[in-house]
Amino acid sequence: MPPAEPRIEPHVAPGVEPPLALLAELTHRCPLRCPYCSNPLKLERASDELTEAEWRRVLGEAAALGVLQVHFSGGEPMARRDLVALIGEAAGRGLYSNLITSGALGGERELQAFAEAGLKHVQLSFQDVAAADNDRIAGLSGAHARKSAFAQAVRAVGLPLTLNIVVHRQNLGGVDQMIEMALALGARRLEIAHVQYYAWALTNRAAFLPTRAQLDTATRTVEAARERLKGVLAIDYVVPDYHGVRPKSCMNGWGRRFLNISPAGKVLPCHAAETLPGLSFPSVRDASLADIWYRSEAFNRFRGTDWMAEPCRNCERRTIDWGGCRCQAFLLTGDAARADPVCALSPDHGVVETALREAEQPVEAFIYRQYG
Ligand code: SF4
Ligand code: SF4
Repeated sequence: MPPAEPRIEPHVAPGVEPPLALLAELTHRCPLRCPYCSNPLKLERASDELTEAEWRRVLGEAAALGVLQVHFSGGEPMARRDLVALIGEAAGRGLYSNLITSGALGGERELQAFAEAGLKHVQLSFQDVAAADNDRIAGLSGAHARKSAFAQAVRAVGLPLTLNIVVHRQNLGGVDQMIEMALALGARRLEIAHVQYYAWALTNRAAFLPTRAQLDTATRTVEAARERLKGVLAIDYVVPDYHGVRPKSCMNGWGRRFLNISPAGKVLPCHAAETLPGLSFPSVRDASLADIWYRSEAFNRFRGTDWMAEPCRNCERRTIDWGGCRCQAFLLTGDAARADPVCALSPDHGVVETALREAEQPVEAFIYRQYG
């Protein structure tokens, strides 16, 4: 018997809009071992993953709640044999679906099936341009060759391709070549996104933080390329917030636009939120997505501005950046309710300045992500 459709409550929390996008982390399994992986240090086991029937139900709940886009992610989502069925379920529910993949598993046959099931877009990650550098960072020999073949397969089946390259001290000098690679592979969009320092990346921060000079050179290269390649290649560029003076608007505000579901079904306002102590994140196995989005303590804890203390409480940017990132505030100060320390107005900003001095030290080695 198919699972019962959940009862969706009407809009129950005044001022809370429905979410727009869902990041569906289908699994933490991945053949790569990136040392900046955003998955938690304690990875969820395959035996705990939501079943296909549970994901189908969740996709239905998401569509009923108002979600417009689903991003199938992981780990490596192609490690799930039911991915084609889930893409079909999303399409049947009217959801725009995007596959976020390492490109290390499968190829044209799988992509053809995904396209026929309704997949709309593929976002493929590379770790670097040169194969040896890519494979060293990925922790998998032959990864670059598999990714290159995968990119060609994406184009062969006619799906739009975005390349994603996470940048840091050890590859930031190659931004020009990254842009050339994206053009050569037929990508329409390139994301050059700096490492965000959570989970595995925080463990390896000393090996990844770039110097200001490195960052400024890369930024000039990107700005020139954006001008030169207008209408040919869109370039998204995410800079390391440690080098800024105001924080990013993390997830566009806690519980405002996005939700994230872990492989075992935990519903989170962002992928790093599990690091926060004292908050228990409900599972789709125990409650409907609507209940969790509108009513759970976890989603309401840092919603809006009422939770803020000074200097955020009376700051004119409080509804622009929402006080920055709660996870970063906790990881750097031990208190998730403080201003994000990357803000120069934060009394804790000194911890970021201290960290930036790490960027001057020649640390190259890192700890790889380990599964199991
Ligand atoms: S960041 Fe690397 S290790 Fe982590 S899920 Fe993505 S490809 Fe796999
Ligand atoms: S004080 Fe708070 S609200 Fe103001 S800019 Fe800094 S982090 Fe944002």
